Amino acid sequence: MIVFKNIQEIQEYLKKLKKSKKLLGFVPTMGALHSGHISLIEQSKKENEVTICSIFVNPTQFNSEEDLKKYPRTIEKDIKKLIEAECDVLFYPDCNEMYPKEEINSAEDYGHITSRLEGKFRPGHFNGVINIVTKLFATINPDTAYFGQKDFQQCAVIKELIKRNGFNIKLNCCPTLREEDGLAMSSRNMRLSNEERKQASQIYVALQWIKLNFKAKTVAELKMEARKIIEEMPLLKTEYIEICNADTFEIMPRKIEGRRLVALAAVYCGNVRLIDNLVLG
Ligand code: AMP
Repeated sequence: MIVFKNIQEIQEYLKKLKKSKKLLGFVPTMGALHSGHISLIEQSKKENEVTICSIFVNPTQFNSEEDLKKYPRTIEKDIKKLIEAECDVLFYPDCNEMYPKEEINSAEDYGHITSRLEGKFRPGHFNGVINIVTKLFATINPDTAYFGQKDFQQCAVIKELIKRNGFNIKLNCCPTLREEDGLAMSSRNMRLSNEERKQASQIYVALQWIKLNFKAKTVAELKMEARKIIEEMPLLKTEYIEICNADTFEIMPRKIEGRRLVALAAVYCGNVRLIDNLVLG
């Protein structure tokens, strides 16, 4: 695996690669890699001749200094996992490389997609995501970019980002990989204590309950019961649980035939904030 730390060097490499017309897949991450990330690498390897993974803990998408400081950083283990997965290239820039002092970040507003749910509870988060992903796409310009449905709202933001910037990049939003008890894999799971880790799987129990009872109950009943299921666990505190239009992120007060809906939750498990979702129907 080739490792690049600066933009100029990776672009020189990419210039040569593009001449050979090889299909290029790109998997952006913040590191602390787990099997969910590796599943994106594997998908990219199936569909492309060259796969690039980036690891960059993007400070502008954190709305809490504490969360940024505590975000796990495990670069040596990450490199080992990427080599095992036969990833071709790692882009591992530092902060000065991605945010040169002379550049000003733009303020982006994609309507409901960036203002609801994660946008509401983590002000500035999607602005940071949009800024960094725009830079990464402009640097790497892959044929296809791979993101996880685990961050369902982020997938919608990236879809809109590609459209608004006119990038010629295909977006592949891949399924969520889960632990045996259903907890969505996440770099943040490393920060859970044993007891928190046990209780965290209740988030998936609640989302599945919504899916199973979707036809029989009203939206208000579904959300109320799911919140109760989560908070049966003393270490869990629900920040939001909503049922939304899966394309526009409008919160649905009731079910409407023919709309693709998704149940999304953000839950504090101790001090660790976890998100998960399930598409309904
Ligand atoms: P992150 O490092 O958390 O920014 O995640 C990098 C990419 O991996 C994002 O597109 C995530 O949605 C995706 N991802 C994170 N967790 C999972 C998972 N459990 N299954 C599949 N993809 C995931």
